[in-house]
Amino acid sequence: MAESSRKKQGKVCRDCHRVVDGEACTVCGTANVSEDWAGYLVIIDPEHSDVAKKMNISLPGRYALKVR
Ligand SMILES: [Zn+2]
Repeated sequence: MAESSRKKQGKVCRDCHRVVDGEACTVCGTANVSEDWAGYLVIIDPEHSDVAKKMNISLPGRYALKVR
């Protein structure tokens, strides 16, 4: 699990907590994104990750633990 970082690394989808590159989440298809988030998290193998299961993450990728 990656350490949290104060440095902003983009926007995060409020629905699935995925870090998005643009203005919308490619997974949810929503523009419901936030720049105010904390706790950078990289999920490589969601099927074997307890954190991914807790957060209902099914796709590998970059996520945020907390989104406001
Ligand atoms: Zn999403």
